[in-house]
Amino acid sequence: MALKFYNTLSREKEIFVPINPPNVGFYSCGPTVYNYPHIGNYRAYIFADTLKRVLQYEGYKVNHIMNITDIDDKTIRDSQKEHKTLKDFTEFYTAEFLKDIKSLNIELPTKLTKATSYINEMVAIIKKLLDNRLAYKSADGSIYFDIKKFKNYGKLSHLVIEEQKENASGRIKTDEYEKDNAQDFALWKAWDEKDGDVFWETELGKGRPGWHIECSAMSMANLGEQIDIHTGGVDNIFPHHENEIAQSEGSTGKQFVKYWMHNEWVLVDQKKMSKSAQNFYTLRDLIAKDINPLAYRFWLLMANYRTRINFVWEAVEGAETALKRLYGLYLELGNEYGHIHKEYQNKFKEYLEDDLDTPRALTLLWDVMKDENMSNGDKRATVLDFDKVLGLGFDNLKKDVIPHEVTKLAEEREQARKNKDFKKSDELRNEISLLGYLIRDDENGYKITKIESSNFFKKI
Ligand code: AMP
Ligand code: ZN
Repeated sequence: MALKFYNTLSREKEIFVPINPPNVGFYSCGPTVYNYPHIGNYRAYIFADTLKRVLQYEGYKVNHIMNITDIDDKTIRDSQKEHKTLKDFTEFYTAEFLKDIKSLNIELPTKLTKATSYINEMVAIIKKLLDNRLAYKSADGSIYFDIKKFKNYGKLSHLVIEEQKENASGRIKTDEYEKDNAQDFALWKAWDEKDGDVFWETELGKGRPGWHIECSAMSMANLGEQIDIHTGGVDNIFPHHENEIAQSEGSTGKQFVKYWMHNEWVLVDQKKMSKSAQNFYTLRDLIAKDINPLAYRFWLLMANYRTRINFVWEAVEGAETALKRLYGLYLELGNEYGHIHKEYQNKFKEYLEDDLDTPRALTLLWDVMKDENMSNGDKRATVLDFDKVLGLGFDNLKKDVIPHEVTKLAEEREQARKNKDFKKSDELRNEISLLGYLIRDDENGYKITKIESSNFFKKI
């Protein structure tokens, strides 16, 4: 079977044919680092990670770029509220994001790119758009993309312009649409007082980039003018990705992305989980309930990335119980390593090749575990092979050497406790959990245990 993906551009499942096989140029929209991402956001990053793992499993060499948006309205607003420089503020949340993705077993992209490191590239694209008469300067010095002049505007979102205004997320008002022609979006925002000391002096004037141009610049600078795959959540389709197409294709004259892929939402009470609706949870909330972040990953994989899923605690707790059961079965297999079972492997590939059918792939994992005709060694080899895609951490289960990073944090926490700084000690405890370890105090001091095995042995 051939690898097939649902392409938002055509609204169809298409056979995947990369531009330059076996290489795949892959860009996924990353976080805006102004706060802790919520677990809905992590669906987008787990989806991108699963997609990348499937491509690698199929033998492709994936060049994966993910951006860090460290300049936009929200980062400026909230860094000012905290009286921090934009750099200090965004670096803190970038570091927290990196810890989170580690605990979710999300592989690091080939390169994580910070928007503020690509201002020159953004300026160059905007200059081209001005030359091509697709952009104009407004009275205050801001530069806007003139969507009427770009004939393919709307090809991704398939919406007529009037509908687009209604369908866009809150970002439309705050970020882009404050000028005369409501639907033109900002490429460059002239400095105003609210920006404080955040500005760049460039050929375009004193100011800062708009949000959308950041991704066009980082994608083209690292992967070239045309790429194979670009991902994000469905709320990125409009306006963000539609605008990326307009800017990129408007400046190069070439098709920007071959396959656009989008994950559906995590809901709470059937409404989209979001910061603005105040109905969100972070990974820290899960850890506080002693839920392993990998149980969340497992729960997401139980649904196809294109279906909406409703978050309830019982569901994720159920996923954790199932995952522990799988861990238990795996640990019983011992240390033998045999052969990957070809028939199971072929089925596993077949399911994933069908637009990443992870729910069916997971049923195979159970089938392997329960197969009475397979040797323990073959089971182990097959599970570890599947886990290259699933990323559920089977390979880590038996490693009980505690990393230096964890012992160092545990020492700092002990010190904080001695100083009666319980807030700090709690924070450090959370940090340790994010690295996958549990810390417990007893009369002799403290004990560190790895989360999966400790929880597992507690229950079995
Ligand atoms: P943002 O920081 O708002 O740009 O969001 C980061 C990523 O998370 C984007 O790809 C969004 O589309 C995605 N996203 C936001 N909310 C949800 C949600 N409730 N469920 C799934 N993905 C989401
Ligand atoms: Zn983006």
